[in-house]
Amino acid sequence: MGMNNASRLKNKHILISGAGVAGPALAYWLHRRGFTPTIVERAPALRDGGYAVDFRGEAHLTVLDRMGITADVRREQTNMGAMSYVNEAGRKISSMPADLFSGDVEILRGDLGRILHRVTEEHVEYVFDDSIVSVTEDDRGVQVTFERSAPRRFDLVVGADGLHSAVRGAVFGPESRFVKEMGLYCAIFTTANHLGLDHTGHLYNTPGKVVGVYSARNNTEAKAMFHFGSPPLDYDRRDVGQQKKILAEAFAGNGWETPRLLKAMWDAQDFYFDSISQVRMDGWSRGRTVLLGDAAYCASPLSGMGTGLAMVGAYVLAGELAAADGDHLVGFARYEEAMRDYVAGCQKSADGVGKWMVPDSRFLAWFMTQNYKLLPYLPWKGMIAKSVRRTADAITLKDYGL
Ligand SMILES: Cc1cc2nc3c(=O)[nH]c(=O)nc-3n(C[C@H](O)[C@H](O)[C@H](O)COP(=O)(O)OP(=O)(O)OC[C@H]3O[C@@H](n4cnc5c(N)ncnc54)[C@H](O)[C@@H]3O)c2cc1C
Repeated sequence: MGMNNASRLKNKHILISGAGVAGPALAYWLHRRGFTPTIVERAPALRDGGYAVDFRGEAHLTVLDRMGITADVRREQTNMGAMSYVNEAGRKISSMPADLFSGDVEILRGDLGRILHRVTEEHVEYVFDDSIVSVTEDDRGVQVTFERSAPRRFDLVVGADGLHSAVRGAVFGPESRFVKEMGLYCAIFTTANHLGLDHTGHLYNTPGKVVGVYSARNNTEAKAMFHFGSPPLDYDRRDVGQQKKILAEAFAGNGWETPRLLKAMWDAQDFYFDSISQVRMDGWSRGRTVLLGDAAYCASPLSGMGTGLAMVGAYVLAGELAAADGDHLVGFARYEEAMRDYVAGCQKSADGVGKWMVPDSRFLAWFMTQNYKLLPYLPWKGMIAKSVRRTADAITLKDYGL
């Protein structure tokens, strides 16, 4: 589709690590531009879970439109209203207006993942339950070894495997050089909507901790969400039991609905736990390997931009690679050039947000609650929303001959 250079196209066989958001979005565009992508995902099936992610502004919406998935995303959007801060007894103290935080369209990460899988599965080979172990480059391509599958050759490799990217680790160096923790941890899982919330959520904060619950999937279930301040923790990323224990300890003795939520946590099937971090790298490619999305430039959930960034990055990477007839040196360099400033802006938008989302003192918590009470009447409400939108819009997307 849209290809007039199919015969000149080089480097057609591309291995993508990660079937989150960036990986399937890239596979979609690579296929449309004449390449043959394969995706390897470590999880045994598509990963559900996580909270809602937002698309805001022209650039994000243009990519959804050009992928033809705007209607699907809108059909499954969360339609959340205002979120409320509550006191220990569950009584509302103040509300955060919905239009400030949820972008133009908000969808659960898992639902977005399913849409992206649906529009790619016909043309893209998915290999679940496996992971890249090593990538060895020679002048004609790359030899890749896996944990389970037999070694295979590809022309190019893309690391779209998230914050703790295996591809980044294998080709660029240890995570500690690139991942900057921001002093907060976050956990999310699905639970029963026992508070009977109707397209809304309740948040309860104590110094250095926020626990929340909000309804999802038209109130048929709820998401429990925990944030807490902590220096870097040492734990096994594959040991969910250990992570649950860390969370239970961090919130032991916390009031409101916390004990009930923690009890439900032990049965949660989609428990997600991670540090809130950014990824900063001087370059996103090395030879025939390139990084995309969180693996290359995680902006953190505090930015509210991570998913849009991954989708825009996928569009630009595939577009530039095709425009260079598959020449990876040219295509990867142009991808980086097109994305650098945009990424910097999105990462910057996370500055200071942590302090304000998880206040570390009683005074700050009180101040923030008061602020939300007044916010609807304050002139900066519009300014904040506008500035977030400006950041999300700060890239001009070429059409790459669509
Ligand atoms: C389960 C889950 C829940 C999330 N919840 C939230 C949330 O609530 N809020 C938020 O802001 N962000 C969340 N994120 C991160 C968010 O999805 C990303 O910031 C954003 O969408 C960018 O997407 P990505 O594809 O670059 O990374 P991700 O969405 O993180 O996807 C990376 C994918 O790579 C896979 N992977 C990891 N290691 C390997 C490996 N060695 N080999 C193969 N595959 C591998 C992962 O299983 C995952 O499917 C979550 C991510 C996951 C995986």
